[in-house]
Amino acid sequence: MLAKIFSFIFGACIGSFLNVCIYRIPRNLSIIKPASFCPHCKKPIKWYDNIPILSFIFLAGHCRYCQKRISFRYPIVELITAFLVLFLYSRYGLGLIFFKFLFLFSLLVIVSFIDIEFHALPVYLCFLGILVGLVFALVDTLIVLREKLFFDQNLPLFISFKGLIFGLGFTYLFKLFGDIFLEFYLNLRGKESIEGEKESLGLGDVDFMGMIGTFLGVKCVVLTFFIAPFIALFYAFFALILKKSHIIPYLPYLSLATFISFLWGDKILSLVILK
Ligand SMILES: [Zn+2]
Repeated sequence: MLAKIFSFIFGACIGSFLNVCIYRIPRNLSIIKPASFCPHCKKPIKWYDNIPILSFIFLAGHCRYCQKRISFRYPIVELITAFLVLFLYSRYGLGLIFFKFLFLFSLLVIVSFIDIEFHALPVYLCFLGILVGLVFALVDTLIVLREKLFFDQNLPLFISFKGLIFGLGFTYLFKLFGDIFLEFYLNLRGKESIEGEKESLGLGDVDFMGMIGTFLGVKCVVLTFFIAPFIALFYAFFALILKKSHIIPYLPYLSLATFISFLWGDKILSLVILK
């Protein structure tokens, strides 16, 4: 029980760091220095005002100095990460798998919230993800090899590499066909397509799916790819009712779909594939 409470607090602290990344990475600022500051008045934040989740509540969501609003994103990211760490710790304990998935899902949180705010993503983030995913697979492979002492195609590095190639290839093919279809459709309606509107999927989505494949394998790529549009539709439906903007970045849906396929992938597959 104590360990679980500690993992939750640890998760909230990781979430606090992810907030720093979400704010600073797209603005090309260092994520290490300086210490946290208010985005409005730039005053450094004292440690007692920088306690994850709690400080936001004590300060009623306002900066102590300039009284400007602090974004709800801060406590939301901290809560998401806290529950994520609690879940990963309860399921896997403290080991290689724990850190592997902690890294992946932390990166998904960063990528999603940057995409929500900026509708764009620094390209190197998914490449970094792919690289780290391969390193985890390599370490995992070395551990397996020490026990098994022979090679076969179920080695983690092999599965990871297959996932990477499939994630990139599969999504890129869909992008190609999607682009051709979209151009055909726009021509048919006699619409001059504006640059940027001609893309069905961005190259960022392709890299993202490569990363998912590296960490979670081929099956998860397929599932994520087909679950994400349903979540997007679901959101679009409510956006329509609430008359909110329906211009939506896609990476949050892909991230959510990734988590769903990670949790219930096998269950969903057994429902879909009739035996
Ligand atoms: Zn301030």
